[in-house]
Amino acid sequence: MGIAEIDLHASLKKYFGFSGFKGLQEEVIKNVVAGNNTFVIMPTGGGKSLCYQLPALIKEGTAIVVSPLIALMKNQVDAIRVVSEHEGVAHVLNSSLNKTEVKRVKDDITNGITKLLYVAPESLTKEEYVEFLRTVKISFMAVDEAHCISEWGHDFRPEYRNLKTIIKRIGDDIPIVGLTATATPKVQEDILKSLGMPNAVTFKASFNRPNLYYEVRPKTKNVDADIIRFVKQNEGKSGIVYCLSRKRVEELAQVLQVNGIKAVPYHAGLDAKTRVKHQDMFLMEDTDVVVATIAFGMGIDKPDVRFVIHHDIPKSIESYYQETGRAGRDGGEGHCLAYYAYKDIEKLEKFMSGKPVAEQEIGHALLQEVVAFAETSVSRRKFILHYFGEEFDNATGEGGDMDDNVRNPKKQVEAKDEVKTL
Ligand code: ADP
Ligand code: MG
Repeated sequence: MGIAEIDLHASLKKYFGFSGFKGLQEEVIKNVVAGNNTFVIMPTGGGKSLCYQLPALIKEGTAIVVSPLIALMKNQVDAIRVVSEHEGVAHVLNSSLNKTEVKRVKDDITNGITKLLYVAPESLTKEEYVEFLRTVKISFMAVDEAHCISEWGHDFRPEYRNLKTIIKRIGDDIPIVGLTATATPKVQEDILKSLGMPNAVTFKASFNRPNLYYEVRPKTKNVDADIIRFVKQNEGKSGIVYCLSRKRVEELAQVLQVNGIKAVPYHAGLDAKTRVKHQDMFLMEDTDVVVATIAFGMGIDKPDVRFVIHHDIPKSIESYYQETGRAGRDGGEGHCLAYYAYKDIEKLEKFMSGKPVAEQEIGHALLQEVVAFAETSVSRRKFILHYFGEEFDNATGEGGDMDDNVRNPKKQVEAKDEVKTL
């Protein structure tokens, strides 16, 4: 494999300008190049795209990339085109293309020019496309955001369910690469089963974020005052405050402003112009704090976010991990502070009451984990990592003393309260 190794580094430099691989990338890429079924679990920002982009560029044939987000597909295609001699090296196949454009895509694939073909899962159900893809050389099939296949994931997409059947129709022996940032054992199991690749080689990166400090405080009537105090103690630093409702976002942003804090609101109810403006203000440091619903964050790549506050507890540990994960991207300080009251859990339960029973059950189980996390006296980091199927030893692990329960162990008295009398 000596030559292959040199080639990989040369290709990495040539196509992406990077001088080295991140984490498990090189091992993953070798496995994909070798034509094996591969399962990649890495946190957001871990560099999963490269794990299929680089193999696609060096392998014979076209790799099909399934991804749920059209905007992200377009970004990736544009980025790859920049470094390639031929614009046809990457294409997106979707319903917005006219006949001429579809023909162009097909011609580029047939002529061996296209190395990466991005498709939304619903486009793959189009008989015309499946029939065409059966006739050309496919190097492998990458399923990005593979957790969308699982009802236990935070972003279930029914169209993902048909992927296995469609892949089999396109070709019986096409290698499959599944990628996700969702690390729960249940979702992983679902992915392997639903994609029909029980024997896939699995690569899982650690989800530990050693520079993040986790803290949960009881939520009282004074929560706003507590947040103001916290933000003032961290004056000049960038932070995000997450609230459940748009109304609360507006109110809290105002309360912070009135108290002399540079804060702006962000939620999906604001018009696009205002949203972009507030996001830019945050990136350009014209504001310190964004008070937001979960609509804020996807694709925000500000490296020096110093705190993430949850005014309301999220609906799952995964959401909590994703949202707090926006702090300390640069490896510097990142304080994650969540306010917890059981009545907020009841509120979230109530929101689900209109949904189908199966969905409610899953939602309930995810919420119970949030309750356990908020009420635990065990290390928060240990809890989170255990939830993601990872053993963590606070004595030896990185960031082992970076949470409230480790720094200030709870008194034994509280444990006694929990003893149930029969
Ligand atoms: P993920 O899909 O796992 O969230 P991405 O594929 O979007 O992560 O990559 C995250 C960032 O890391 C991108 O900005 C990408 O350019 C960068 N990146 C990926 N691989 C490398 C590498 N080997 N060296 C430097 N930067 C990298
Ligand atoms: Mg990704």
